[in-house]
Amino acid sequence: MTTTDGLTDRLARLKAQRQAVILAHNYQTGEVQDAADFVGDSLELSFQAARTQAKVILFAGVHFMAETAKIISPERTILVPDPNAGCPLANMVTPRELAERRREHPDAVVVCYVNSSAAIKAMTDICCTSANAAKVVASIPADRPVLFIPDQSLGQYVAGQLGRELILWPGYCPTHHRILARDVRELRAEHPQAKVVVHPECTRDVIALADAVASTSGILRYCRESQAREFIIGTEIALLHRLHKENPGKTFYPASPLADCPNMKLNTLEKLVWSLEDMVYEVTVPEEVAGKARRALQRMLELSSPPAEVP
Ligand code: SF4
Repeated sequence: MTTTDGLTDRLARLKAQRQAVILAHNYQTGEVQDAADFVGDSLELSFQAARTQAKVILFAGVHFMAETAKIISPERTILVPDPNAGCPLANMVTPRELAERRREHPDAVVVCYVNSSAAIKAMTDICCTSANAAKVVASIPADRPVLFIPDQSLGQYVAGQLGRELILWPGYCPTHHRILARDVRELRAEHPQAKVVVHPECTRDVIALADAVASTSGILRYCRESQAREFIIGTEIALLHRLHKENPGKTFYPASPLADCPNMKLNTLEKLVWSLEDMVYEVTVPEEVAGKARRALQRMLELSSPPAEVP
């Protein structure tokens, strides 16, 4: 049997040999996060992909994130440890459906959450993440209608924040929608001092109960800076790994143990090693799609502040 230490050593050797960097999303398992050079949310990982000098990016996340890295950094080889790690939310909009909707709203600016395929990004005007969605929508002139795709919950939240009507797409994250308002109320009754901090992919009912609503990087920042000692966390449960690690004196309760994304969890330490050994599974995006998608992503990056650390 190979131990975690053995796998970690092999991974370190392979990384040097392949001149690779490992980027991992905040929803990866603790062992994958610990093996990564950089752990972050979608926006932070996009910046890392744009700036790294490594030849190979091994992307531990889901497929649309690796596609985004390829679009932003076309000269790098992008690998994913498991090609089956997709995102059901991203699959809730197809190019045919979007083309139809665009015909219905010819004046609309299409704002596309990065949880979408490259083909969809290529059909949109500007991308956003949960960290910058309000800023991106606010950058669009008030007299232009906005079609916000594909996450309805994030769209509703942004519309409420800006007091602006948005045309919403009926997509949702099945993992975040497993968190119920009842779960939050019960936990709050048990831990009355705890702050409730949730991700905007949660349902409107859950968001209404929160003390703070933020992207994963925003949740990490809120919990780090808050004077509170206890927190109820409404997002994918793997974020608790970083929360515990970075805040040893504080206590975190997952809003629901069911908020466990099976796609994110397909990546394991073994698969990271195999991926660099065999140089699989490479993610490619045809240039005619990548060129258009890149413009939508670059517009977003120009509106956002980059993180300080670059591997
Ligand atoms: Fe997609 Fe939700 Fe899983 Fe994120 S947590 S990858 S949005 S299904």
